Amino acid sequence: MNSEEFRRYGHEIVDWIAHYMDEIESYPVRARVSPGDLLAALPTAAPEQPEPMDAILADMNTLIMPGITHWQHPMFFAYFPSISSRPAILAEMMAAGLGVNGMMWETSPAVTELETRVLEWLRDALGLPKAFHGVIQDTASTSTLCAALAARERGSHYLGLETGGAAIANLTAYGSVEAHSSIEKAVLLAGYGRANFRPIAAGPDGGLIVADLKAAIEADISQGLTPAFCVATLGATALGGFDDLKAIGTLCRVHNIWLHVDAAWAGSALILPEERWMIDGIDAPDSRADSMVVNPHKWLMTTVDCSVLFVRDPEAYTRAFSILPEYLKTAETGQVTDYRDWGIALGRRFRSLKLWFVLRRYGLADLRAMIRGHIALAKDMAARIDAHPDFDLLTDPRLALFAFRYSPSGAANLDDLNQRLLTAINQDGTLYLTRAKVDGKMAIRWSVGQNNLTAAHMDKAWARVQAIAQTL
Ligand SMILES: *Cc1c(COP(=O)(O)O)cnc(C)c1O
Repeated sequence: MNSEEFRRYGHEIVDWIAHYMDEIESYPVRARVSPGDLLAALPTAAPEQPEPMDAILADMNTLIMPGITHWQHPMFFAYFPSISSRPAILAEMMAAGLGVNGMMWETSPAVTELETRVLEWLRDALGLPKAFHGVIQDTASTSTLCAALAARERGSHYLGLETGGAAIANLTAYGSVEAHSSIEKAVLLAGYGRANFRPIAAGPDGGLIVADLKAAIEADISQGLTPAFCVATLGATALGGFDDLKAIGTLCRVHNIWLHVDAAWAGSALILPEERWMIDGIDAPDSRADSMVVNPHKWLMTTVDCSVLFVRDPEAYTRAFSILPEYLKTAETGQVTDYRDWGIALGRRFRSLKLWFVLRRYGLADLRAMIRGHIALAKDMAARIDAHPDFDLLTDPRLALFAFRYSPSGAANLDDLNQRLLTAINQDGTLYLTRAKVDGKMAIRWSVGQNNLTAAHMDKAWARVQAIAQTL
């Protein structure tokens, strides 16, 4: 492809994206295809000869688009938000245009230094401790795995790296039963073993029961085991529960356990000073976290993927990852940050560019207004559902997430009724919701967080839910 063709299709594709964003509400939120539809339509081998861009773009429209679920649709209330924005998209184009690999300082000094500065901005904007140093990873799952590995090494006095198996066999890890599945996955992948993972029960408010955590830690110590890694969740994925960071942090200090905070979704709301109650205890002499993950790709308009891992002690952290073969030594080794020592991958995309574009183009004021707006819309909707005689609010809004169910008087088997309601809503296509369990009851989960969402969308969504419920 020459420069002329690149320009022509580059402009065409920017127009295509702009048009898509303008017209997104004309699509059903969730894709309506069946398993195998796209596979059946695609050739089984790559083309031998070059194809024209027009043919590729035509297939984009006819083959790919029907299989897209529209995550940027204002009525996407499923899972958690993963909001994109025009400035982030433009930055992604520029990062691809440069095509650099920021594996270490020398391979593109600006990639390293922009990441450092932008993450200082983010840390301060979220009100996190000045001692925190950030690094961008692809997802919270990777960020948490990195924390689990660093905790394993600190807990084994860095012997895990030397002798493997036996040095880490006694280490134990802890997290709430409400914690995201990525916590258990990280613990298993980091080699603690399922037998040494302690899922801790959660109380009615969704937070881990600290007395149970304390008992589990003490029982492990009395068995000769070494508690090494604990995860506190702020904003659990199913229902948005919050763990008591201060109480958990105190326990972790006493027992020298690496405390990792999973705030992948809720962490973005820390740009609001009124929501900083959730990090009480993150930085006290007797209670502090060692690491924390926040995903700007969820609620801060930074197109997927951009997950930020903050760590308190970069030296303890990077010791778990640094390996320095001869071919990676440079004149600056030791004097600069080489982010290849901050994670699993060597190669690194220029992800800080999109966060920089977003923070500058919106400013913290607009980002705060957006998140405040989501929280207000969620509260308002929850109140309307609560007031309706045929619906029950099952969890009060936690930030912008709540759960409800349909419970018309005299109806039997509410679990089945609500499953049918959810299926019908998602087939209808006006809005997209997902499910959760609340005290064993089938619940419908409503997660608010699109950047183009207005009160009118909420009205339309609620009207549709009521109308569909009446047809059941
Ligand atoms: C979304 C989420 C995750 C997983 O995030 P990925 O970036 O998709 O790995 C983990 N923990 C919590 C609390 C989340 O909300």
